[in-house]
Amino acid sequence: MKNRVIGIMGAMPEEIEGVVALLSNCVTISMGKRTYFSGQINGIETVVVFSRWGKVAAATTATTLIHEFKITELLFTGVAGAINSDLKIGDIVLGKRLIQHDMDARPLMKQYEIPLLSKTYFETDSTHLNIASKAINKVFENKSLDSVIGERDLVEFNISQPKLFIGDIASGDQFFSTNLQKQNLNSQLPNVLCVEMEGAAVAQVCYEYEIPFSIIRTISDVADETAHIDFPSFIKKISSKYAAEIVKNIYNQM
Ligand code: SAH
Repeated sequence: MKNRVIGIMGAMPEEIEGVVALLSNCVTISMGKRTYFSGQINGIETVVVFSRWGKVAAATTATTLIHEFKITELLFTGVAGAINSDLKIGDIVLGKRLIQHDMDARPLMKQYEIPLLSKTYFETDSTHLNIASKAINKVFENKSLDSVIGERDLVEFNISQPKLFIGDIASGDQFFSTNLQKQNLNSQLPNVLCVEMEGAAVAQVCYEYEIPFSIIRTISDVADETAHIDFPSFIKKISSKYAAEIVKNIYNQM
């Protein structure tokens, strides 16, 4: 059996800080404008990296994790804009299916279909979906949430009873900052819960290399004119703390 090596990616530097802090015997390796932090969490080999933004950046980082670091599974934690109106800032979406909303090779193939793969959606396998959903729900247990995130920070971002949603995530090389963009995506792909810029690219690479993946996104904005929030502050106070806690809970199930 191959040695288990977990790759953890985040799309903002602040997102991975809390996870990097969990690494023991951490060494850093610089490659292709990325810094890879390699060490162990609970004795399991782990490599953590800030992927940079967008599908190309995420895909090359995932490929490097697979080839250079020989990862056997991949976890992505990041922020996203809500598309479904039930989602609130501070909720978490666990991707069951990932779609590239800007893939359009019509008339050669159907809109959104990935050329040569005959696939439109990349699915997370049920084992990893289960592990991640348990880990996220644990963070949301009342006592646990208060100890992870300060009360003042929860109030600042108006987060009271965050929820986990499991479903479709759409990715593309666009930052959604108008209601029109949001409505268009919602009418074209009504099942999509949230939008971001990396998940479905990572999922495609993982599919092609047969690496199981989990994509976890904290809702940072509602993908409209108000979307240009203070990202570093939200990530520092909320999503990076969720990420570290979720990672701990995932490793406790291994
Ligand atoms: N402008 C911000 C950072 C951009 S946020 C800053 O100056 O710090 C972009 C990242 O957050 C991407 O990695 C993307 O995956 C995610 N994201 C969050 N909200 C998004 C939205 N409304 N549309 C697209 N991507 C979003």
